[in-house]
Amino acid sequence: MSNDRVLIFDTTLRDGEQSPGFSMSLGQKLRIARVLSDLKVDVIEAGFPAASPGDFAAVEAVASEIKGPTIAALCRTIPADIEAAARSLEPAQSSRIHVFIATSPIHRKEKLGMSRAEVIQHAVDGVRYAKTACTDVEFSAEDGIRTEREFLAEVLQAVIEAGATTVNIPDTVGYSTPSEMKELFSWLRATVPGIGSVCMSTHCHDDLGMAVANSLAAVEGGARQIECALNGIGERAGNCALEEVVMAIRTRANHYQVDTGINTRKLMAASHLLAAVTGNFVPRNKAIVGENAFAHESGIHQHGMLAAPETYEIMKPEDVGVRASELILGKHSGRHAVIERARQMGYELEPGDVPDVMKRFKALADSKKRVFDADLEAIIAGNTGDHRGPWTLGWLSVVTRINGESLPTASLTLSNEEGTSVTQTGDGDGPVAAIVHALEKATGMEITVKSLAMRSISLGEDAQGEASIRASCDGVEYGGHGLSTDIVAACAEALLEIVNRAARQQSQPKSSAA
Ligand code: MN
Repeated sequence: MSNDRVLIFDTTLRDGEQSPGFSMSLGQKLRIARVLSDLKVDVIEAGFPAASPGDFAAVEAVASEIKGPTIAALCRTIPADIEAAARSLEPAQSSRIHVFIATSPIHRKEKLGMSRAEVIQHAVDGVRYAKTACTDVEFSAEDGIRTEREFLAEVLQAVIEAGATTVNIPDTVGYSTPSEMKELFSWLRATVPGIGSVCMSTHCHDDLGMAVANSLAAVEGGARQIECALNGIGERAGNCALEEVVMAIRTRANHYQVDTGINTRKLMAASHLLAAVTGNFVPRNKAIVGENAFAHESGIHQHGMLAAPETYEIMKPEDVGVRASELILGKHSGRHAVIERARQMGYELEPGDVPDVMKRFKALADSKKRVFDADLEAIIAGNTGDHRGPWTLGWLSVVTRINGESLPTASLTLSNEEGTSVTQTGDGDGPVAAIVHALEKATGMEITVKSLAMRSISLGEDAQGEASIRASCDGVEYGGHGLSTDIVAACAEALLEIVNRAARQQSQPKSSAA
């Protein structure tokens, strides 16, 4: 007897992307969508098209390029939202319109100002209208967990009769517990007429650290779709972490008796790519994808591991994409070796990205004795394909002082693609502040750094440093990424990317700024 299949509905690009610090450009969203497709998620929720022209364009781009997973777009029950969702999904091979309205008493009263009857009417009208554009329609009862049970059942029955093919009961505020979830889903399955012919879905938030446990409990109660996000990103404390829920189902198949279609060997690559793209590093101790998740440090554990890995290991590292060997290529490694090694790590390089990756790889191999998997991964994941001008950094000198008489200073020369160049000097509390001030003088922009994260990519004193910076330029926030064996140079590279993004955006005519 084969296990029931649970669908994995990924909302990294919608619920995840809308949370502070995780916004992505269209190109970045496409990179994440490609990796989700590689992972073989069943549904990619690509955005909320009515929210902004940028969201619309991103859903349309994902719908055009990604074949395989179903592409979903979120919308309220109002006609203009549903029309925007339908239009953005037109290029998709397989599409889903995801309609939601809040059903809980507090949301009905304080947010919507609607009676129960009005909420049902909007839900039914929304699903019917979506159904005229798309056969695959999901309905979400926002704050479903805090909705009166009999009313929730009434809403679900009505939307199923109106044609919804998936009904989602979200724990929007992260309030539920596993035993409550299992009981609620079992009750709905036993109570709501017609629910056996549609897919029940769960969407949990992690405010109390129970999003994964609650999602698994919903599955025990009969849910057959889990809404989740890579690295658990999402509103507030985030969503159910895709990698955790997938590996729990796989590792404890004897308990849950269900399967997913996820290619788990791609989990590590997907997680690292998202971290690099958004500049939010994964904590070392994070389940499944953290650096320490498969490290065995204590002597007793190491002894056990050498005797038999099963003594302390419930999962094989290679099943989530952790590589056994660390030392890799050198400066004589060719293009094919690099592409093949990337593939073994879970990265499919786009042909257009290969020249840039090779250039950086060769430069690194020249400056560093040993190049590790992690170095190549950082080059690939951090390769935004977006090192375009108008500015290039011709020269940079930074002096930092401890207990000195004067402030750290940075002098730099920027060349513009129009052929002009400018040299400026700035000072500040530290080398990064000094670079920022020199860049401000050179470009005339006002730059405010919002966050800066640095990490070392591999081992040894010649290890590469990776810098992720978010900064606002003239009031608009951008992200930049830099990679170098010199950490100050990595910061400068990240800042330069931010300045270039801002300059390109500012030079666009306003009408096409969307
Ligand atoms: Mn949510």
